[in-house]
Amino acid sequence: MSPSPVVSRVVVAVLDGLRPDAIDPFDLRHWKRLARGGAETRAGTSVRPSVTAAALTSLFTGVAPSVHGIESEAFRLPKQPGRLPLVTKVLAAHGIPTTVHIRRIPWLCRGLARQFARHAGAARVTMTGDHAPEILAAAEGTLRERLPGFTFLHFPDADRAGHAHGWMSGAYAAAARTLDDTLGRLAGMLELDRGDDTLLIACADHGGGGAVPTHHHSAHPLDTTIPILMAGRGVRPGVCLDGASWLDLPATVAWTLGVTPPSAWDGRPLTEAFAETLVAAA
Ligand SMILES: [Zn+2]
Repeated sequence: MSPSPVVSRVVVAVLDGLRPDAIDPFDLRHWKRLARGGAETRAGTSVRPSVTAAALTSLFTGVAPSVHGIESEAFRLPKQPGRLPLVTKVLAAHGIPTTVHIRRIPWLCRGLARQFARHAGAARVTMTGDHAPEILAAAEGTLRERLPGFTFLHFPDADRAGHAHGWMSGAYAAAARTLDDTLGRLAGMLELDRGDDTLLIACADHGGGGAVPTHHHSAHPLDTTIPILMAGRGVRPGVCLDGASWLDLPATVAWTLGVTPPSAWDGRPLTEAFAETLVAAA
């Protein structure tokens, strides 16, 4: 039996490369406000290796990099994609669409990316803008339509500044604040404060500056520790999500939309974030 849906819309915003220990010193006030009213961890775990291609492939396949086979920075098709129960396809089987908003990518890759997104079952894709505010601006029209389903947004700014200038540098701090402002605007668009039927999950895919000041691929805790927050309908304020993993996100997305996560997925739904009545109903 499928769980009862908690919400009709789940929005996952990836703040690429945002270290949890950047939140207080750089005063990321929107993150802190949303975390106070929702569930949070600043001790979440990324995948190994802690790189974006591996993490995003895990988000869409539900399995660890050792299973999907993408264990470097290079995006390519996962191992045996037909055998992996893709998140988008699992949701689509229940009539739930996926929408993807990412930055502009080189035109040579654009056709391939669209083809891959369609193959994976994503209903709509925007690839506009280079920085978080532009990417969100391109997504705004779709977000305001309040379509049900899974919406994925990726904001690259902190990772880019970390590679160019070092994690926790001045440029990194500025990029982290840009991400935070964008998160605040996104929460406003989603009308979370007005109790809209939406769950927002904001998270980083990896940290950085662990073994190498300008990278994030090592097993150092500064590279592998991530912040995760959940806010919106049904989330209990003040819940601590310590122990949560990036791999729990696909199962959480499915569960909150009323879909049983396939047993092949590595993570578990973060049900502790929700009121007990909702968990019991599910
Ligand atoms: Zn990176």
